[in-house]
Amino acid sequence: MLGRAVTASLSISVTSPNPLSKSFFGKTTNTHLSSSSENPFFTLSTLSWNISRRSSSRSSRMEKSFTTRASAQPLTNADELIDSVETFIFDCDGVIWKGDKLIDGVPETLDLLRSKGKRLVFVTNNSTKSRKQYGKKFETLGLSVSEEEIFASSFAAAAYLKSINFPKDKKVYVIGEDGILKELELAGIQYLGGPADGDKKIELKPGFLMEHDKDIGAVVVGFDRYFNYYKIQYGTLCIRENPGCLFIATNRDAVTHLTDAQEWAGGGSMVGALGGSTQREPLVVGKPSTFMMDYLANEFGIQKSQICMVGDRLDTDILFGQNGGCKTLLVLSGVTSLSMLQSPNNSIQPDFYTNKISDFLSLKATTV
Ligand SMILES: [Mg+2]
Repeated sequence: MLGRAVTASLSISVTSPNPLSKSFFGKTTNTHLSSSSENPFFTLSTLSWNISRRSSSRSSRMEKSFTTRASAQPLTNADELIDSVETFIFDCDGVIWKGDKLIDGVPETLDLLRSKGKRLVFVTNNSTKSRKQYGKKFETLGLSVSEEEIFASSFAAAAYLKSINFPKDKKVYVIGEDGILKELELAGIQYLGGPADGDKKIELKPGFLMEHDKDIGAVVVGFDRYFNYYKIQYGTLCIRENPGCLFIATNRDAVTHLTDAQEWAGGGSMVGALGGSTQREPLVVGKPSTFMMDYLANEFGIQKSQICMVGDRLDTDILFGQNGGCKTLLVLSGVTSLSMLQSPNNSIQPDFYTNKISDFLSLKATTV
């Protein structure tokens, strides 16, 4: 039952010149990063792309293998799933909490999994907070989670820059909020921008020219409630004019849930603006890029087949799990409804779905 689904994959080896084919700093890594709207995963060291499902128009030599993933099954035997993996990776919003409200039964469920010796990891694309700040949120909600168990895309951006030995004399220009700044500080990386540029305005007098720092070696773009034209222009100048300047996105989420009354434009809107002005594709470090998955697999020494990714969003959480070769469980306590999952327009099928994670407490061998 648990081995039912067959991973759909498309592996493409690119041999033609690629904008990313030469590392900015002359150093290669084994990091997998999403860098196009077609959801590719780029391995800097091997120049290989893995693309889920969709084909590419590139004329490069390609090796393709397609299999079809069966429709998601309702979770009927939680124990079987729990016993089949060592680690659970949980998305946060829509899985653990909704806004500032804990979802029913979460503490008991996490206790159950810990009592069975399972490793728990919490991954979020929200870059507005650092690991430490997320730790406080868990604590406020009465959950005992350590900072080391939390992987936010703010942390991923700093971890990526560390992984490529981002030069000490270079700086990062940040379009985003406090979480990214905090993580860059902890990583010992110099930065400019962030909330400090939130009030800046441009007065377009005749002949006006904006200066920018030639030592900016990367622009990191995350969700930013104080996004403005100054930031767009500054980031654009850095990416277009500083040789080798990296364009890094914490995520490309289309929408986010700032309030529970409606969906709000997500981090993808800020990333899209810079993509439009620079005509460059970003390196994405958040879900569904496998950077964080690779990082935590290395950090904890976990085999990816021993991981179950649990999330409420198909195009980030479930794809993240599938791209990493993990088992996947969709919960319907967040943004995805059963009708969305089962829509003919949806091609992303998790292994299993259930209403909420506390179903682990009750689903022994019954039906959803
Ligand atoms: Mg979510």
